[in-house]
Amino acid sequence: MQPEETLDPDDWTELRTLGHKMIDEMIDYIKSVREQKTWYPIPEEVKESYNTSVPYDPSPVNDVYEEFKEKILPYRMGNIHPRFWGWVIGTGSVFGSYGEFLNSIMNSNLGGGDHSPVYIELQVLNWMKELFGFPKTSSGLLVSGGSMANFICLTVARNAKVDIDIRKHGLQQSAKKYIFYTSTETHSSNYKAIELLGIGKENLHTIDVDQNFKINIDLLKDQIKKDKEAGYLPVCIIANIGTVNSGAIDDITALSTIANAENMWLHADGAFGAVACLSEKYKHLVKGIELADSLAFDFHKWFYIPYEAGCVLIKDADIHYNTFSYTPIYLAHHKRGVGAGPERWFSDYGIELSRGFKALKIWMSFKEHGIAKYGRLVTQNIDQAKYLESLIKNDPGNLELVAPVELNLVCFRFNPQNKHLSLEKLNELNQEILFQLQENGIATPSYTTLSGKYAIRVANTNHRSRREDFDILVENVLNIGTKLVAGK
Ligand SMILES: *Cc1c(COP(=O)(O)O)cnc(C)c1O
Repeated sequence: MQPEETLDPDDWTELRTLGHKMIDEMIDYIKSVREQKTWYPIPEEVKESYNTSVPYDPSPVNDVYEEFKEKILPYRMGNIHPRFWGWVIGTGSVFGSYGEFLNSIMNSNLGGGDHSPVYIELQVLNWMKELFGFPKTSSGLLVSGGSMANFICLTVARNAKVDIDIRKHGLQQSAKKYIFYTSTETHSSNYKAIELLGIGKENLHTIDVDQNFKINIDLLKDQIKKDKEAGYLPVCIIANIGTVNSGAIDDITALSTIANAENMWLHADGAFGAVACLSEKYKHLVKGIELADSLAFDFHKWFYIPYEAGCVLIKDADIHYNTFSYTPIYLAHHKRGVGAGPERWFSDYGIELSRGFKALKIWMSFKEHGIAKYGRLVTQNIDQAKYLESLIKNDPGNLELVAPVELNLVCFRFNPQNKHLSLEKLNELNQEILFQLQENGIATPSYTTLSGKYAIRVANTNHRSRREDFDILVENVLNIGTKLVAGK
């Protein structure tokens, strides 16, 4: 007979010692991250080393760790660095990463059942209801991120408002077209959701924005009226609470009035913007967020929680439950034992049955710092965005804002006025500036194009950034830009 095997170590001491070493080295690494470059391109030979075939034979754990340090760690994305402001990507936190470790030691499955992680997720969800002004009776769910959160919320919106038994028939028997509305600035995850829900992209009516990139309310009203006249059923408005391009916040109070009058669902995509709620100084910007029927937001962006974690809040728990619940015999909820616990399982509120303990890193981080500090950090990030705005405005001969700064997002470009460069030249020039900033490891903003203008885009969800980091950014944009224009 073969001797029985396990994945547990033969030598616990070796793994314990390695664990201690990992903690020591990773603390040194993260502590000194400011001294590193923002990004290191992956050398070709390292890329090739990622292409070996399946490892059938064992390797010593110390070797595996050394390989991680040599071939993986240095070539990180860089969002742990104080000058990373690309896309909308969070910084993470050290204690939060310990949460990930403890979580994976427990290795819980939060589909449902009677074990502490289930109650901790419920507690985190209750905290979120409190912060965002949702009633205690709301339901919620932790998910992988904003995309999944939008998808879940829009599924509930569809099922709540269509005039057929959609779980039974799907969209096969609908006599009417179901219409969703949002602005042209909405995030791609909402398009994906609309497609996956069988609504079809052409039935997501995207309304033009005003000069501040917010949905034009009058155009929305006109469109709804037209659609009703055509015999369509308006189902849902998606409010953008912080657009990904420029951080614009739709007028949610006006949208709520329309949704109520038309018996439509109001969903708020607040992936990062919703978190402005925490800031005493800036919470007025997202006033009315509690009017939404559903809210999607991320923990891994502006809550600085390590990847991944997003969140769904839905006011009407029954509609949420009735959208997703399935209780096959092998998942029957029992009155006693591990199969008991809260009557409604998390798996009845979403797509996934097996779910990890994402709540732990959130629970630990919030307890570590207290939520008031998160509010101050959100304020700090917006103040820093305004500081960057002031640096740009102070040099009108060379720099120019491409969108108004409302939140933590700054879109700008290098534009030396005395050179009278064409739009095309400016777009090329600013893209080259961006490449050089990133490739030289100076800073990592990202990019977008607004009204045809290519912009260097800074999205500040970074708790490590300091004002001096924005000085460094502007200095380098000016240096690189001036050299490029001079043809050097
Ligand atoms: C990032 C983002 C999303 C998607 O969230 P993920 O966590 O990346 O899936 C949706 N909407 C907006 C406005 C976003 O910024």
